[in-house]
Amino acid sequence: MPGAPDGSAPNPNDWIVGTAADAPPPIGADIQASFARQGEIIGFLSSMFGPYPFGAAGGIVDNADLGFALENQTRPIYSKVFWTAPGFGDGVVVHELAHQWYGDSLALAAWQHIWLNEGFATYAEWLWSEREGLGTVQENFDAAYGLPEDDPFWSIIIGDPGPDALFDFAVYARGAMTLHQLRLAVGDEDFFTILRQWATSQARGNVTTDEFISLAEQISGQQLDELFDTWLFTPGKPVVADASSLRRSATPEDVEPGPAARSLGKLVLKR
Ligand SMILES: [Zn+2]
Repeated sequence: MPGAPDGSAPNPNDWIVGTAADAPPPIGADIQASFARQGEIIGFLSSMFGPYPFGAAGGIVDNADLGFALENQTRPIYSKVFWTAPGFGDGVVVHELAHQWYGDSLALAAWQHIWLNEGFATYAEWLWSEREGLGTVQENFDAAYGLPEDDPFWSIIIGDPGPDALFDFAVYARGAMTLHQLRLAVGDEDFFTILRQWATSQARGNVTTDEFISLAEQISGQQLDELFDTWLFTPGKPVVADASSLRRSATPEDVEPGPAARSLGKLVLKR
């Protein structure tokens, strides 16, 4: 209301009246909201990856100047900066919880196989994005595939990126793209069987890319060397053989890219 209330001292500015609802919520409320969904997220991931591999789950957001999230076993740690708006942190919680299967229960035999962690956790984010109506897996793939062929994104060898590029954004996104190409090649039933058997057959073990390719070939009955050579071991933008097949899950309403797609090209924090 303009002017000071009766009995109050004059003020150089007009007085205003508001409620707590007029102020942005504290970031803690957004974090709590994401953490409150952990059981739901673990249920969703378990439905695709098989049973959650540990006996406890949770997370820690420290009020510290971290620039990353890290998939510590049963207690990932998160930078608060992932919660820039309500709901924006859910995807990173999905990512770190997916690492409980792929990264923690399955550990890498050597760092060159890092896409087995980051590509899988990123694909889990795409699956969640589709479930939440924020953009289908295919739209997430398309957004990354839309990067021009001279973009450095395509220059890294995802199956052996070298120490300086271990956590490059391309390892995350192109790792997930590799999984999506596998899914399109073998079909949903074999694809999710591969993901489950991968998680369970080597639980608590150390894994390599060759082992994953062998399992995928064994379950699908297909020779997949060309697919993995193209997507993991060849620099450059792969040609997608049949563009129409890539669109098969898209509907006309899906033309608008989801938040995951729109965030491409912005600063991507390590996770
Ligand atoms: Zn990660």
